[in-house]
Amino acid sequence: MNQYTQEHTHSYYAASAHGLAPFPTLTEDLVADVCVIGGGFTGVNTAIELAQRGLSVILLEARRIGWGASGRNGGQLIRGIGHDVSGFARYVGAEGVRYMERAGGESVELVGRRIRENNIDCDLRWGFCELANTPAQYAGLKAEHAQLIESGYAHETRLVEPGQISQQVVNSDLYAGGLIDMGSGHLHPLNLVLGEAQLAQSLGVRIFEQSPVLELVHGSTVQVRCAAGTVRAGSLVLGCNAHLEELEPKLSGKVLPAGSYIIATEPLSPELAAQLIPHNLALCDQKVGLDYYRLSADRRLLFGGACHYSGRDPRDIAAYMRPQMLKVFPQLAAVRIDYQWGGKIGITANRFPQVGRLGQHPNVYYAQGYSGHGLNVTHWCAKLLGEAIHAGHSQGFDVFSAVPHMTFPGGRALRSPLLALGMLWYRMREVLG
Ligand SMILES: Cc1cc2nc3c(=O)[nH]c(=O)nc-3n(C[C@H](O)[C@H](O)[C@H](O)COP(=O)(O)OP(=O)(O)OC[C@H]3O[C@@H](n4cnc5c(N)ncnc54)[C@H](O)[C@@H]3O)c2cc1C
Repeated sequence: MNQYTQEHTHSYYAASAHGLAPFPTLTEDLVADVCVIGGGFTGVNTAIELAQRGLSVILLEARRIGWGASGRNGGQLIRGIGHDVSGFARYVGAEGVRYMERAGGESVELVGRRIRENNIDCDLRWGFCELANTPAQYAGLKAEHAQLIESGYAHETRLVEPGQISQQVVNSDLYAGGLIDMGSGHLHPLNLVLGEAQLAQSLGVRIFEQSPVLELVHGSTVQVRCAAGTVRAGSLVLGCNAHLEELEPKLSGKVLPAGSYIIATEPLSPELAAQLIPHNLALCDQKVGLDYYRLSADRRLLFGGACHYSGRDPRDIAAYMRPQMLKVFPQLAAVRIDYQWGGKIGITANRFPQVGRLGQHPNVYYAQGYSGHGLNVTHWCAKLLGEAIHAGHSQGFDVFSAVPHMTFPGGRALRSPLLALGMLWYRMREVLG
């Protein structure tokens, strides 16, 4: 199975997607205020934000809308942006850090609003539990809970003691406690991005699929060249994340692509599903190469994790992931796996998303590098890009773009082995305690 064909990968999501009717391929020379490259959450939502502000937008996608991580991910819509943003105070000040923390919650509300106001049918369910693998991690969750309460977080949150986990959250004896957050949840990501593409189209965005951008010619007007047509635009947005590659090497050098994998079981009986995850929460643990899992609307267990850092995908994803699933749920030994797929996460050195414009070409904007936590963050970054391109200024854009980002040494050939080495180090620390 080649998961990197021009069509959607053979996932549970593609098999249960609504309205996969294709958009046309670019075959003419067009002009727009803004050209957006990439048809994932970043690109589609930036197009929406720009069109809502009255700008004309053309979106170019190399394969299909949602073909990348946006249509393949775990579907976990989880509060927060980045990892311990207090460390960025020296770049953005205390007020900037508070902005980032607020955005962590508001970005989830933004996704919820987009779904609600536009009736996007994507199986949204509220409720998430972050699981501790060790007592030390549970102590960390207690501190996180106290912070949430102190910050006035608007949603129900609750700590779950180790002895209560299997009754209240997940029927597994692996965990040392958990933190439930009813302001986070889970959804069908491909149906979300497809619904958003329809919204973009209804706002006047011209969308083209199977239209890989081959070359950019920079200037006060940017020329964007595909095989059979071009777009000339005053501004350009790069929303290609881990798939940017050689189109803009200076940017792709700041992101390490890492593989993450998901299996989907056959539909479980209502009794078994309720026994495994009694309140249908999204679940995620805290191991390196974490396990993330949840039930689909038709009661399949979607079990993801096991980041692959070598740059090579496992030949048989189900054979690779099934033992991980059975560690959590040995009771599923006889259950069939119906789907298996993988996708590319864009990891950054500081785990904060990269938002900004190219120094030498200020009319070229980008957002990328969500480090495996992009569902809410892509939507927030799209809003920042929309504000900045429309008004020439955005407080949030200024805060996010003030965080500096490292270019990984070694170019494309060395980046993945480097990541493999780095993760081996973290895994050793985990094992050695
Ligand atoms: C397996 C997996 C599980 C994940 N689970 C979660 C989760 O549960 N919760 C969460 O918050 N995040 C999760 N993530 C991360 C999240 O999916 C991403 O952060 C997010 O989808 C990134 O969106 P994007 O639009 O920036 O990139 P993508 O969705 O990858 O889209 C980039 C698009 O750009 C296109 N493109 C690239 N080059 C060109 C070109 N030259 N011309 C035209 N188009 C081009 C690609 O074809 C692609 O469609 C997961 C990621 C993976 C891979």
